[in-house]
Amino acid sequence: MALLEVRDLSVSFHTYAGEVQAVRGVSFTVSKGETIGIVGESGCGKSVTAQSIMKLLPEPLVNYKHGQILFNDQDLLQKEEKAMQQVRGNDIGMIFQDPMTSLNPTMHVGDQIVEGLVKHQGLSHRDAHERAVEALRLVGISQPDERVRQYPHEFSGGMRQRAMIAIALACRPKLLLADEPTTALDVTIQAQILELMKKLQAQTGTAIILITHDLGVVADICDRVVVMYAGEVVEMGTVDQIFYTSKHPYTSGLLASVPRLNMNRHDSLHPIMGTPPDLLHPPVGCSFFARCSYAMEVCRVHKPLLEDQGDHQYTACWLHHPLAQQTGTDRSG
Ligand code: SF4
Ligand code: MG
Repeated sequence: MALLEVRDLSVSFHTYAGEVQAVRGVSFTVSKGETIGIVGESGCGKSVTAQSIMKLLPEPLVNYKHGQILFNDQDLLQKEEKAMQQVRGNDIGMIFQDPMTSLNPTMHVGDQIVEGLVKHQGLSHRDAHERAVEALRLVGISQPDERVRQYPHEFSGGMRQRAMIAIALACRPKLLLADEPTTALDVTIQAQILELMKKLQAQTGTAIILITHDLGVVADICDRVVVMYAGEVVEMGTVDQIFYTSKHPYTSGLLASVPRLNMNRHDSLHPIMGTPPDLLHPPVGCSFFARCSYAMEVCRVHKPLLEDQGDHQYTACWLHHPLAQQTGTDRSG
């Protein structure tokens, strides 16, 4: 059974210009101990999906239009704020790109760990303090018994990210949501943090949802990948399926636009031309239509649904639709 199941989720925002349909019909599952990467360009709905799971989106503006987010068989979208506070931090931990926005600058780092342990796990302050020191040690912060009494600004960027991981994992959550956790860090620290996440996952069995635009990070750490475009899932599969047998033109475009280690100097990068559609008025057909070099007439008028390509690789593209294979749909557009 899945630990988390996002079922047909649609989320929109009220803006002055109208209703922005940020997430449209997104479904995926996360099993216990699994690491799922959600990838796509900025504005594709990956962060909105993550923040929906935590119900962290600004209340009067957000509209959870449709769908369910089942965690341990309970729909998080139906939970009251009070119940969600218990879920956040205790059952589901979070780490963000910028630790300074989520660490409390006026509180000792250790107290921020202690707070969660006392609140969610009913530990005494004394025991919680010991666990906080241990948590800092676990994430590789040296002299944790002194560091525990320091403020976030006394930590370096990499140490703050480690501290945030310590806070997120202190209550031993079943799921960790990591939104661009290493984007703001330099490459060496980035590698250390990813290594740390892998190590902690092996020790604790926490499932991870990793949100990133960095496919290198995905290749390094994920089991499965969800590719999002314009608020929708366009392809989903194992890391190998996505990297070696991707079928969606957008996925191929993403892969062609990032540098690879095995590139020689004659290879060039191919950015995807054009821009994503306006989500105030999303296209009725395939969202990638305007940028796709394989686009056909059917793509403009009918939305392709995710279809199993075999071996649980799912692709939403008319080129790979079972019907297109049968009828040999004209590709000249
Ligand atoms: Fe391109 Fe059509 Fe496939 Fe969309 S459905 S990605 S437009 S070929
Ligand atoms: Mg984001």
